Amino acid sequence: MRTPDELRTIAAEIRKDLLVMIHRAGGGHTGGSLSSLDILVTLYFRVMRIDPSRPKDPTRDRFVLSKGHSVEGYLNVLARMGFFPTQELTTYGEFGSKLYGHPTMSVPGVEAPTGALGHGLSIGVGMALAGRMDQLGNHVFVLMGDGEQAEGSVWEAAMSASHYRLGNLTAIIDYNKLQISGDVDSVMTISSLVDRWTDFGWNVRELDGNDVDALVREFESDTAATGAPRLVLAHTRKGCGVSFMEDNAAWHHRVPTDDELRTALAELDERIVALSVNGKERVR
Ligand SMILES: [Mg+2]
Repeated sequence: MRTPDELRTIAAEIRKDLLVMIHRAGGGHTGGSLSSLDILVTLYFRVMRIDPSRPKDPTRDRFVLSKGHSVEGYLNVLARMGFFPTQELTTYGEFGSKLYGHPTMSVPGVEAPTGALGHGLSIGVGMALAGRMDQLGNHVFVLMGDGEQAEGSVWEAAMSASHYRLGNLTAIIDYNKLQISGDVDSVMTISSLVDRWTDFGWNVRELDGNDVDALVREFESDTAATGAPRLVLAHTRKGCGVSFMEDNAAWHHRVPTDDELRTALAELDERIVALSVNGKERVR
């Protein structure tokens, strides 16, 4: 089992890799991939019961990236997990590659093609219902964006999940407070998400979504017995891990220049060295 410090190191390394990938391809969703990465790394490298050598094992846990545009972090996580060779990551965005701007079913490890926002939670509800009907004993995780909360279909899925008492379902909101066009609440008021999800019958938890210790604690606590689906409101920072990208909506899909990439990689290298030296540093 990976320790929190090992998870932090993996996350810092993948932050470097996804920035290089976006820079090479000349496009990508930089800010959201960085904000959600600690959640993905914690789930894949520690929490979820999955075996890349048996990708179709019916009892596996399921993950749906409902905010499919944050694909660069996701693809790097899947490759590092061993679902496909890491060398393939260099083809991202090229004509003929199966790796491009949103996840598709041609990518090993991907459970659902996503990108049209508001659909992932409904898919997760179906997976959780099926898991219960087939008595698989597995858990389904769905990661949504905060801008995505403006999609009406999210709330249809939210209603049905609590109606069917899907304790084997966890939805996570990457709550970085920013979306493509700026501040989320200025586009569509979604506050208070705690009240809204509680009213919809969910067991709402709130934490720092870039704090690996908090994520491990929450995901490893068993809330299934409550019978209610769990909503993890994960407060994150868009662009997390690179000082000049943090909390800046411009980095939603900006591509770093050569100089910016060099600076970002140097910052992340410093984190990795610090983690290896004292093992205590928190990658934030
Ligand atoms: Mg956002």
